[in-house]
Amino acid sequence: MNAPRAPLKSLDEALAALLAHATPLAGTQTVSTFDADGRVLAQDLVSALHVPPQDNSAMDGYALRCADVPAAGTVLQVTQRIPAGHHGHALEPQAAARIFTGAPVPPGADAIVMQEDCEVVEEGSVRVNTVPRSGQWIRRAGEDVTRGAVVLARGQRLGPAALGMAAGIGLSQLTVVRRPRVALFSTGDELVMPGEVPPEQMAPGAIYNSNRFFLRALLQRLGCEVTDYGIVPDQREATLQALQGAAQNHDLVLTSGGVSVGEEDHIKPSVQQLGELDLWQISMKPGKPFAYGKLYRGGPQDACHFAGLPGNPVSSYVTFMLLVRPFLLRLQGVADVTPVRMALPAHFDLPRGDKRREFLRVRRNAAGGLDLFPNQSSGVLTSAAWGDGLVDNPANTTIAQGDIVQFISFAELMG
Ligand code: AMP
Ligand code: MG
Repeated sequence: MNAPRAPLKSLDEALAALLAHATPLAGTQTVSTFDADGRVLAQDLVSALHVPPQDNSAMDGYALRCADVPAAGTVLQVTQRIPAGHHGHALEPQAAARIFTGAPVPPGADAIVMQEDCEVVEEGSVRVNTVPRSGQWIRRAGEDVTRGAVVLARGQRLGPAALGMAAGIGLSQLTVVRRPRVALFSTGDELVMPGEVPPEQMAPGAIYNSNRFFLRALLQRLGCEVTDYGIVPDQREATLQALQGAAQNHDLVLTSGGVSVGEEDHIKPSVQQLGELDLWQISMKPGKPFAYGKLYRGGPQDACHFAGLPGNPVSSYVTFMLLVRPFLLRLQGVADVTPVRMALPAHFDLPRGDKRREFLRVRRNAAGGLDLFPNQSSGVLTSAAWGDGLVDNPANTTIAQGDIVQFISFAELMG
């Protein structure tokens, strides 16, 4: 007789447990700012200067003193010309400076009038056809960044705009957290690599290895250094050897498949033999068989993380996004690893809720709602390629057209 089963861990409990194990990596690396996209800052970036460095013109036009233009139509002498990259001299009374966007405002001027509001009346003088307001079209020194400010904080993941900010305060190199080293394995005797066997020659029961492709891409997008060990056969000895070998010089060993309850599933007992299994089976759909543990090198104090994803492609995809992604970000020192959710109306019905919390593949439509992919089977990868995100549907919850549901976009879960 089977013993009564303990209730499965909730996704929130599993994620909390996983993050508790994710001690941030200590190593850092100095890289060119050009190459830092997607990396995580290992230090605060403090600005040594104001950005912009001085007051400058936001327009092509004329710099002047408002007091000199009491009425529209006032004519002023043009006494200097200041292109971007140059600087002028103090503005004389009753004078204007021809100025261009980005050029420093000369001392004494307190407004810029755009050239569209001016007329050159004769060589060396300009008619100002508007009454300027003090400060208009002047971009103030330090309006973007003040000297001494922390522009980007340690633990921040760098995107293109952040690279621009770092460059804008003069940094050509950045100290970032080293890349997590991840070993990737696919398990399954049915798996064949595309390119090795043409479709018309596939043996009965064989399928192409899809997971290897999206997992590698997802890992790379998260800044990981991936060693792809390819396919491991469904045999205990081969599984033990592969896991133990990879554990020596990686931070994480990531597998797909072989983590369910069948006797061909060798991952779980192998991890138990080589280290510890801290987590197995989560109350979520798809993705129930997810496993997390450690592979010992010397012992519990010197161990490599292990994450086992289910083999079904959608289960693999979704558990990677919801569990492995936050884990890998936390390893790199990112504090906030929670994806943003949006409350959006369902433009579909889900007449039967699942007893597990379910992640439905959906797509935003032009009417601002969500369409559901008709086949939500965990083997149907088309749902993930068609969809642009997930609806997080609580256990035992039905959905009717117009209900507001929680949407997480794939874009949010991939980078
Ligand atoms: P498993 O978790 O090993 O029991 O596999 C569950 C299902 O996912 C089976 O139908 C496998 O054939 C399939 N599967 C496992 N690994 C992959 C993979 N790398 N690519 C495509 N399908 C897979
Ligand atoms: Mg299998």
